[in-house]
Amino acid sequence: MAKYDYDLFVIGAGSGGVRAARLAAMSGARVMVAEEHRVGGTCVIRGCVPKKLFVYASRFADDFADAQGFGWSLSGESFDWPKLVAAKDREITRLELAYSATLDRHKVEVFAERATLVSPHEVRLENSARIITAKTILVATGGRPNLDYALPGIEHVITSNEVFDLKEFPRRIVIAGGGYIAVEFASIFNGLGAEVTLIYRGDKFLRGFDEDLRDGLAAAMTARGIRIITGQKFTKIAKTAAGLAGTMSNGETLEADQIMFAIGRSPNTQGLGLEKLGVQLDPEGAIVVDNYSQSTVPSIYAVGDVTNRVNLTPVAIREGHAFADSLFGKKPWIVDYTTIPTAVFSTPEIGTVGFTEHEARAQYKDVHVYKGSFRPMKVIIAGRSEKMLVKIIVEGESDRVVGVHVLGPDAAEIVQMAAIAVRMRATKADFDQTMALHPSAAEELVTLREKWVAPGEAAG
Ligand code: FAD
Ligand code: NDP
Repeated sequence: MAKYDYDLFVIGAGSGGVRAARLAAMSGARVMVAEEHRVGGTCVIRGCVPKKLFVYASRFADDFADAQGFGWSLSGESFDWPKLVAAKDREITRLELAYSATLDRHKVEVFAERATLVSPHEVRLENSARIITAKTILVATGGRPNLDYALPGIEHVITSNEVFDLKEFPRRIVIAGGGYIAVEFASIFNGLGAEVTLIYRGDKFLRGFDEDLRDGLAAAMTARGIRIITGQKFTKIAKTAAGLAGTMSNGETLEADQIMFAIGRSPNTQGLGLEKLGVQLDPEGAIVVDNYSQSTVPSIYAVGDVTNRVNLTPVAIREGHAFADSLFGKKPWIVDYTTIPTAVFSTPEIGTVGFTEHEARAQYKDVHVYKGSFRPMKVIIAGRSEKMLVKIIVEGESDRVVGVHVLGPDAAEIVQMAAIAVRMRATKADFDQTMALHPSAAEELVTLREKWVAPGEAAG
C-alpha cells in the first residue's frame, strides 16, 4: 500500500497550480487539487482574461470615431454594461470548464474547498474536515488585492475582485493606485464612457517602466479625458446621497459612483498554517523558495504569486511546469527570469522587454538610445493626434539590444516578438539588417538609425 494518499497535493487551481498538477499527473503521479473559489484562478476568473475582454469592449469607442474618417456613417451606437458582463461570464465559465475537463482527463482529483496545511505531509480540507496525506505539497494560492484597512470608510470601496461583476455601470469612477491595474481600469472605464479620475500617491504612475513611456501614457490618458491627480492619497471615504465621496490629503473631495482601490497585491498565505510548520515567509508574507520552488520545509513547494517573484501568469505557469518536470518528470530545470516581456493594457497600450533607459545607464558605461515618435497611419486619416512611441536601448560596447519599449496600438503584440530577438542577444546591427515589413508600425524597430542625444550630452 502507498505510504501517502497522493504523490502531490496542489493547493490552488490557478495558472501555476493547474499546470503543475496536469504535468505531474502526465508523469504518472497521483495528484489532488483543492480550489476554494473557481478553477482557473485569478487570471481566468478575475484577472487577465476578463480584463482583456473589457479592454476590447472599451476600444470600440475609438473604432466608431475613427471609422467616420474612413467614410463610414454610424448612428445609434450605445453601450450595455450588463450585456458585456454576461458575455464575459459566459467566456470565463467556458474556460473554467475547459480547465476542469483537462484536469479530469488527466485523472487529477479536484476538491472545491479551502485547504490548509497540518503537517509537512498533511493537508486539511476545511469544509469536509478531511485530512489528506501527500508526499509533496505544492502551495499555489496566488495573491489578493491590498486594501488600506485603517482608512475610514474603506468598506465602501471595490477592488479588482468586484469590478468585473458590478450590477450597474459606474458613470463616475475614481481609481486609487498607479500600477498595472489602476492604469488599465482607468482606460477601460474611460473608453466605455465613464468620467474617470486616477489618484496616485507619487509624482508619476507606473514606477519601474521607462520614463518616456510613463510620460507618454500620462499625456495620452489626460488627452483622452482622464483626470490624473498625483501626490495625493485618500484620508476618508464616505457614502453620500449621490454615491461616494473620497477626501484626499489636500482636503479636496472627489465624488463618484464607485471608488476602486488598485494599490498592489499580497501573497495568499494567511491562515494556511505555514509558519507553524517552519515554512519561511518573507516580510510581505511570500513563501521563500529556492530556484526549484522548494520552501524551507523539503516536502513543501510553492509557485506563482504566492512566492512574489514576478507576478505574471506566464511566469506562474512556467514555475509550475518546471516544478512538475523537475520533481515528477525526471527533467530538472529552472525558470529563467531574464527578459520577461510585459504589457500594460491601457489605451494606448504599453509593451516592454529588457532594461529601461534608466536601468541600462545604471548597468552599463556606454548606452545608446534610439527612439521614434510618430502618428500611426490609421490615426492620421481618423483625425486623431495620438502618437506612437518606439524606443530601443543598446549596450554600446557589444551593440546588443537590451531593451525594447513601445507605446501605442498593438504594443503587446509587437514586443512579444521583439522579446525573442532580445533574448537571443540580437544586436542593433541585426535589427538594422532585418528587412522592414511595410506598411506597419513595427517596422520602426528596424528602421531607427539615428542615436538619440540627451540634452547636454555630446553626440558620439
Ligand atoms: P492564482 O491564479 O491567483 O490562483 C490561485 C488560486 O488558489 C485561486 O484560484 C484561489 O482561489 C486559490 N486558493 C487560494 N487559497 C486557497 C486555499 N487555501 N485553498 C484552496 N484554494 C485556494 N498577469 C498577466 O500576465 N497578464 C495580465 O494581463 C494580467 N492581468 C491581471 C489583471 C488583474 C485584475 C489581476 C488581479 C491580475 C492580473 N495578472 C495578469 C496577474 C495574474 O493573474 C497572476 O500573476 C496569476 O494569476 C498568478 O497565478 P497563480 O497560479 O500564482 O495564482
Ligand atoms: P502594482 O504593484 O502594479 O501597483 C501598485 C500601485 O499602488 C503602485 O502605483 C503603488 O505606488 C500604489 N500603492 C501601493 N501601496 C499604496 C498605498 N498604501 N496607498 C496608495 N497607493 C499605494 O499593483 P496592481 O495592484 O496594479 O497589480 C498587481 C500585480 O498584478 C502587478 O504588479 C502585476 O504583477 C500583476 N498584473 C499584471 C498585469 C499585466 O500583465 N498587464 C495587469 C494587472 C496586474 P508606488 O509606485 O508609489 O509604490
